[in-house]
Amino acid sequence: MKHSGKKARAAFHPAAALDFLPVDHLQALQLQRLQSIVQRAYDCVRLTRVRMDAKGVRPDDIKSLDDIAQLPFTVKTDLRDTYPFGMFAAPMEEVVRLHSSSGTTGKPIVVAYTQDDIEVWSSVMVRSFVACGVGPHDIIQNAYGYGLFTGGLGAHYGAEALGATVIPISGGNTERQIMVMKDFGVTVICSTPSYFVHMIERARELGEDIRRFPLKVGVFGAEPWSEAMRRHIQEETDIKAQDIYGLSEIIGPGVGVECECQNGLHIFEDHFYPEIINTDTGERCPDGTEGELVLTTLSKKAIPMIRYRTRDITAIEPQPCGCGRTIRRIHRISRRSDDMFIIRGVNVFPSQIEAALLAVEGTVPHYLIVLTREKGLDRVEVQVEVTPDIFSDTVGSLENLQGRIVKAVENILGIRVDVRLVAPHTIERSMGKAKRVIDQRNVGS
Ligand SMILES: [Zn+2]
Repeated sequence: MKHSGKKARAAFHPAAALDFLPVDHLQALQLQRLQSIVQRAYDCVRLTRVRMDAKGVRPDDIKSLDDIAQLPFTVKTDLRDTYPFGMFAAPMEEVVRLHSSSGTTGKPIVVAYTQDDIEVWSSVMVRSFVACGVGPHDIIQNAYGYGLFTGGLGAHYGAEALGATVIPISGGNTERQIMVMKDFGVTVICSTPSYFVHMIERARELGEDIRRFPLKVGVFGAEPWSEAMRRHIQEETDIKAQDIYGLSEIIGPGVGVECECQNGLHIFEDHFYPEIINTDTGERCPDGTEGELVLTTLSKKAIPMIRYRTRDITAIEPQPCGCGRTIRRIHRISRRSDDMFIIRGVNVFPSQIEAALLAVEGTVPHYLIVLTREKGLDRVEVQVEVTPDIFSDTVGSLENLQGRIVKAVENILGIRVDVRLVAPHTIERSMGKAKRVIDQRNVGS
């Protein structure tokens, strides 16, 4: 038998030893890698060289880890502006893979990997799986999209390097996902949390209960999700729902992951050096203070990314973790500054609305936030699906539920929004990243 029931095994894997390095060893390794990657970026990437020259900083000015603050930032538009290959630091004969983001506006961004980069990526994915309690005995159903998106192949190579059994099912075809999950004795699912919520719901409609499957761990990422969503998933399925973090600009999935403590994400900081900055001033924030996460790739050869501004809002946790890992943690990322919208002067993140909805019984985690403008005033309508039981209930109890949701959102955001309860299955399901906000404020006005 490949699996051993629901209990997650915390088997030791040699690759995870790097998570437990003594801090002084880790910092010495980081500094040595930082010096070398800054030299490489300066020598090979014109944009970085021009910016460093403009700031009057040279590679040999980096004498300590704190000197990183002298270096210029890199932002997402830099990758667009140098499209497709302007940030590459390796010749094409050393590049073995290209991935690309779906550009919603304009050109996509292109990222590249040398063979060494692919090996680093696989190794951090192995460490991610191990931290989630996944080992060589597991059967991993990989429902992240395969293709240009980094999720599918990133998790795939890591699963194989771990020695687990991987099923490269990709996203979509939910009924087949459920059949495979049951018939193949799948113990680990990788997908976006919103897609897994859809699988839970579809399984129930097919008369299946995921609690009775051997499934024990979900490795969920690629979109911000709330602690309330984690509780929902764990209660509905009796699995451990683990948060994994990554972005293509840095490497893909496997930049950081939760351990069994489920209390922040460990960053694989021997490869990805984290800093937190004040979004407005660019100044560094002390540990424990919330700000924008900035990452520097310490070992990536094809595209060394110096101080990349992720737009993700979090903080570095100063306390050591109960698991004993010495690599530091960041707080769960439930907010991206890109997702934020401003309503009547208040900053609003979809995850805050999600947390409010999930606190109210009778709703399911399918929702859509529609922003419109009427007579110059912003209007937010939150469409929320309710359970079939509730939906067939009396008008009075639906109104009561609606009132409770309005109140729950108001408690969190401090503003009132319109809430519309909609029938089960009204809101479109995503096989990948869920679309939570439709902004119609500038349409036809
Ligand atoms: Zn830990």
